[in-house]
Order: sequence, then C-alpha cells, then structure tokens
Amino acid sequence: MSEIQYRTAKNIKEAVTLMAAAKGKGYILAGGTDLLVQMKAGTREPGTIIDVKKIPEMVRITEKGGAFTIGAATPAAVIGEHPTLRKAWPGVVEAINLIGSTQVQGRASAGGNLCNASPAADSVPALVAAGCVVRVQGPEGKRDIPVEEFNVGPGKTSLKPGEIVVSLTLPKRPKNASDAYLRLIPRTEMDIAVVGVGVSLAMKGDKVVDARVGLGAVAPTVLLVDKAAKALVGSTLDDAALDAAAQACSDACKPIDDKRGTVKYRTKIAGVLLKRAAMIARDRINGIEHRGHR
Ligand SMILES: Cc1cc2nc3c(=O)[nH]c(=O)nc-3n(C[C@H](O)[C@H](O)[C@H](O)COP(=O)(O)OP(=O)(O)OC[C@H]3O[C@@H](n4cnc5c(N)ncnc54)[C@H](O)[C@@H]3O)c2cc1C
Repeated sequence: MSEIQYRTAKNIKEAVTLMAAAKGKGYILAGGTDLLVQMKAGTREPGTIIDVKKIPEMVRITEKGGAFTIGAATPAAVIGEHPTLRKAWPGVVEAINLIGSTQVQGRASAGGNLCNASPAADSVPALVAAGCVVRVQGPEGKRDIPVEEFNVGPGKTSLKPGEIVVSLTLPKRPKNASDAYLRLIPRTEMDIAVVGVGVSLAMKGDKVVDARVGLGAVAPTVLLVDKAAKALVGSTLDDAALDAAAQACSDACKPIDDKRGTVKYRTKIAGVLLKRAAMIARDRINGIEHRGHR
C-alpha cells in the first residue's frame, strides 16, 4: 500500500480544497466504519483521507421553521438522542439507529451511509420516504440533490470531483404525519438488509392525504416507489389499498439472488414490509408508540 496523507479539515471550504487537490484519490472520513473496513480489505486505496469530524456544521443538528438539517458526519448515537428530531421523524431516526451496534453508532453517520452507496444502506429508504434533500459543496459551489437521485449504482454516487456532502435536510412535517422504517435481516442484528422499506404518511381524519415510499436492497439503488404511494393516497389504509401498494413494491423490485435471499423471497417481503411499515406510521400518527426495530 502506498503512503496515505491524513488531514483534518477545520471547515467545509478546506475539506473541499483538500478533496479537489487529491485528484480522485481523496476520501472523506466521517465515522470510518465503512472506509476503514474497505481499506483493510484492499478495496479502497486513498491518497488522502480528509477527516471532517472537526467541522462544526458537519456534526450538528439544526432546526429551522420545522425543518431539520443533519450535518453529514453527525454520529448516529447523537441523532438517536435528539428529542425533537425523534418526535418529528421517528422512522428516519429508527433507520439510522439500526446501523451496526452501540459501538458502531458512536462513529457511523447518515452521510457516510449514503455516500457508501450500498443498495442495502438502512438510512436511505427512510430518507427517501422523508423527502430528504442532500446539500453538496464542491469547487463550483453548493447544490441540492433529492436523496433518491444521489446514488446512481452500487458504490456510485452523483458527486462530481472535489464535491462532498455537507448535510441532509428533512422538510417540515405537516400535521398528522409520521413515518416508519422496517428491514428484514436473516439474524436478529448486525446484518445486511434483505429488504428495507421506509414509509412516510400524512393523514386527514382516517384518510391518507400524502405518502412516500422508499425501497432498499432490491435494486442497484434505493427506489422511490411512486406507484405504491399513489395506491395509499386517498385510502383509509384498507386491505385493498395496502394490497395494491404492496404489489407496486413487489413490481418495482429488481433484486439479486444471494445467500441472504432469493429473488422470489425479496420480492414478496418487499410487499409484506410495506404493509407493516404503513401501519406503524399510521399508529404513530394516532399517538400509538412503536419502539425502534432492530
Ligand atoms: C460491524 C458493522 C455493522 C454495520 N451494520 C450496518 C447496518 O446494520 N446497516 C447499514 O446500513 N450499514 C451498516 N454498516 C456499515 C456502516 O457502518 C454504515 O454504512 C455507516 O453509516 C457509514 O458511516 P461512516 O460515517 O462510518 O462512513 P465512512 O466509513 O466514514 O464513509 C463511508 C464512505 O462514504 C464517504 N463519505 C463519508 N462521508 C462523506 C461526505 N460527507 N461526503 C462525501 N463522501 C463521504 C467516505 O469517503 C467513504 O467512501 C456496518 C458496519 C460495520 C463495521
């Protein structure tokens, strides 16, 4: 392995300058829970590692007008303890809190989970369902990307040379709205999702007035499943609507066959999890608490 430069950036501008100067050999270090594993395995060979954990904007959560901005390198443990964020977006927080173990949670970030671009990343389906916007900064300035457009393939993001992710913004929640994330893993914890489903709902009385569905681990990138959302909107989450939304999720699947699950299994489970996550989101709107699922 050739020599690696380790640099600590004091601010975002410095991180971008270092990233651009590394000419494609620069890697941002957030928690390092993917990056260090990949370096040890020899699948990543950075020329420069740029540590962003000392940049205040990258490790804090701010709330403005009901919207939450999560610094890209904020540890999952900090996110899980944020009282108003947990209340507004319980599904997003439970998805982020599913990542790894207590030890991993102390380092791992949602920005790292997103930038690692695994189709099975746990936070991403919930962020997609939430309508999250990714703030990126690079040599050409800042730009915002809807989270569902951020990753373009396994391990591939839409970041341009020198660009880094600065933050993730969750919009203001309408009244009577909530969300949920469920994943299926072969073990009880510390495993990669066979399927992950995020659902965000807004209701008026007993009718769904808005919905978004994010589906993970069943295609090269996490999917926004508009057809499933459309099947839920206008319904009371009756069996017919849930069946139609579940079918839309199954239809959207283009999964791989591997030791964790066959194509047939993943396709069926996508629909099952959609129904369960939608019902948890509805329960939360109605004040019924559900603890995060591991
Ligand atoms: C034991 C163990 C269990 C795990 N369990 C899970 C799990 O259950 N679910 C799951 O989804 N993942 C899991 N992971 C994977 C990993 O912990 C997560 O993907 C985590 O969120 C990565 O965040 P990080 O801050 O550690 O990223 P890092 O390792 O620091 O970064 C990951 C990648 O993203 C890039 N990057 C990071 N931040 C930025 C940024 N701001 N801008 C541009 N590029 C950036 C890095 O250069 C690197 O290529 C597990 C890992 C381990 C070791």
